[in-house]
Amino acid sequence: MRIAIMGAMPEEVAPILKKLGEYKTTEYAKNTYYEATYKGVELVIAYSKIGKVFSTLTATTMIEHFGAEKLLFSGVAGAVSPELRVGDLVVANKLSQHDLDITAFGHPSGFVPEGAVFVEADASMIDLSKEVASEMGKSVKEGIIATGDQFVANEERKNWIGDTFQADALEMEGASVAVVCDALDVPFFILRAISDAADMDASFSFDEFMESSAIISAEFIMKMVDKVIDNNAK
Ligand code: SAH
Repeated sequence: MRIAIMGAMPEEVAPILKKLGEYKTTEYAKNTYYEATYKGVELVIAYSKIGKVFSTLTATTMIEHFGAEKLLFSGVAGAVSPELRVGDLVVANKLSQHDLDITAFGHPSGFVPEGAVFVEADASMIDLSKEVASEMGKSVKEGIIATGDQFVANEERKNWIGDTFQADALEMEGASVAVVCDALDVPFFILRAISDAADMDASFSFDEFMESSAIISAEFIMKMVDKVIDNNAK
């Protein structure tokens, strides 16, 4: 089995590479991919760079070029739900592109013809994440993630995204990765640890907590990888 682990920024994959220790580095399509054997499975790891286009390219490359059969994303996000605090974990059950807008033609936000407002994540990996959470004694919120090519640091925009998509968290890569995996029939799991509240203090909060939240997410993702491997061996 070959599993992809992706992030958007270097800090999101650094803790994973550190844990693996040894890996092979390949340059492809103007990005760096890391390959390692871990507990008998092949891993391909990369950070895409920020945003929907780069994350689409990386997810596609991991599947089509490196042969990934499952994809797990680890990273940070802004909170929309008032329940979520810095460092809390969110698992996406469905994702939408909040900046995809042809509403002028009467379509709902996030929709284009032959597409869908939401893409659903793999239910069996979400179930496995609940086992991981209870084994780690952590609480993980299952919810909706909204994605767009903008760092949201504005209460009004955040509330609009919350109201329009019932989103619990927002970030800049999840929904594009979801579209790719859905189209190519690769089960995917998107995990985010909160770095900020997407409000006027978001950039300060992000700078302060991005690295610690990225580590929280990466630790959980590696436990998820262990669980997926164990489950696959059964
Ligand atoms: N500080 C960085 C830019 C970070 S962009 C720089 O200067 O290079 C924010 C990244 O974290 C994206 O990858 C996105 O997925 C996630 N993210 C965290 N909080 C976010 C928010 N409030 N709005 C949008 N994306 C957010």
